[in-house]
Amino acid sequence: MTRTMHAAVVEQFGKPLAFREMSIPAPGPGQILVKTEACGVCHTDLHAAQGDWPVKPTLPFIPGHEGIGRVAAVGAGVTSAKEGDRVGVPWLYSACGHCEYCLSAQETVCGKAEFGGYTKNGGFAEYILADPDYVAHIPNGLSSLEAAPLICAGITSYKGIKETGARPGEWIAISGAGGLGHLAIQYAKVMGLKVCAVDIDDGKLAHATKLGADLVINAREGDPAATLKTATGGGAHGVLITAPSLGAFRQGVAMTRKRGTCVLVGLPPGEFPVPLFDVVANCITIRGSFVGTRADMAEALAFGAEGKVKADIEPQPLSAINTVFDRLGRGDVPSRVVIDFENPSHASAREE
Ligand code: NAD
Ligand code: ZN
Ligand code: ZN
Repeated sequence: MTRTMHAAVVEQFGKPLAFREMSIPAPGPGQILVKTEACGVCHTDLHAAQGDWPVKPTLPFIPGHEGIGRVAAVGAGVTSAKEGDRVGVPWLYSACGHCEYCLSAQETVCGKAEFGGYTKNGGFAEYILADPDYVAHIPNGLSSLEAAPLICAGITSYKGIKETGARPGEWIAISGAGGLGHLAIQYAKVMGLKVCAVDIDDGKLAHATKLGADLVINAREGDPAATLKTATGGGAHGVLITAPSLGAFRQGVAMTRKRGTCVLVGLPPGEFPVPLFDVVANCITIRGSFVGTRADMAEALAFGAEGKVKADIEPQPLSAINTVFDRLGRGDVPSRVVIDFENPSHASAREE
C-alpha cells in the first residue's frame, strides 16, 4: 500500500477545492479503512463547500458522502466488516447507539450523529475512514459506480417518498428532477404511485418522462400548482421537494392535496413563507426528512440490485471536481456525476 493518497479538500468556503497529497489514515480501534472505487457528487457537497448551512464543517475537510469501496484494513475489535468487503460510507457516518432516537431505529436524528464528508472526511479521496456499524453493505449485483448515488440520493428519495404516506395509485409530485429527483421518480413508480415531475429545465423533464413520470410540469411556466390540481383532481397526495431553491418549497405546499403531506428534503439556505390559512384549512402536513436509517439503506439498495431503480451516472475523474461543482450550481448536471477512482481516464464521457 502506498502511504499517501490524493484528496480534494475544502480549505476555504466558496473557493475551489484544493488537490492535496495526504497521509492515508490508519484505522483506530473500531474503525475501518475503505479504498474508494467510486463517489457520487451530491448537491449537499456543494452546500458544504460553500458553507451554506447554519452549522458549518470545520476547515479543512474532504467532502463526499456517496463513497463506495473495499475494506482495505480493519482496526482493533472490528467484527462486523472484514478486509475485502464492499461498503458505502454514507452521510450518516455514525450515531451514538444509545439515545431515544437510536434505540427506536431513528438514528438519523441522533444528537451525536457524525456526517460523512462534513463532520468527518469523506469520499473525494482515495481512502476513507469509516465506522463499520454504519456503512452500507453493497449487494453483488451493483457496480460501485451504480451503487454510489443510491447511498445518498437513492436512500433520501426513497425514505422521503415513504414519509409522504402516499399509497399505490395515488399521486406524488416530485419537485427537482436532478440527482435525487431522477431516482425518486423511479422509486415512486416501483412503489405504485402516479408521478408528476416538476423542474425548471425542459431537458430534465424530458428525461423524467423517459423514466416513467406520468406528468411533467415546468415550474416556471403558468401556474404550476393550478396545472397539477387540474390534472390530478385536487393536487398530489404526497409532494417531495428535492429542488435546492426556496421558490420550489412554496410551490410544493401549494401542490399538496387536502390532507396530503409535503416532505422537504432540499436544503437551500434560508426560510420560506408558509400560507397558514391554506395549510390549516386543508389539513396539510409539512415535514422534513433527512437521509434514511440503516434499514432504509438496505431497502433502497435492494431496489437497485433487483434492477428496478438505476442511477444515470456520468463518470468523471477526481481532478474534474471543481468543474462538476460549477455545473451543479448552474443546474447543468443531467442526473449524477460519480467520481471514478478505478478508471480516472473516464473524463468527459457524458452519458447524455
Ligand atoms: P441536483 O442539483 O442534482 O438537482 C436539483 C434539481 O432541482 C435540478 O434538476 C434543478 O434543475 C431543479 N430545480 C432547481 N430549481 C428548481 C425549482 N425552482 N423548481 C423545480 N426544480 C428546480 O441536486 P441534488 O443532488 O438532487 O440535491 C438536491 C437538494 O437536496 C440539495 O439542496 C441537497 O443538499 C439536498 N439533499 C438533502 C438530503 C436530505 O437528507 N434531506 C439528502 C441529499 C440531498
Ligand atoms: Zn447527499
Ligand atoms: Zn443516538
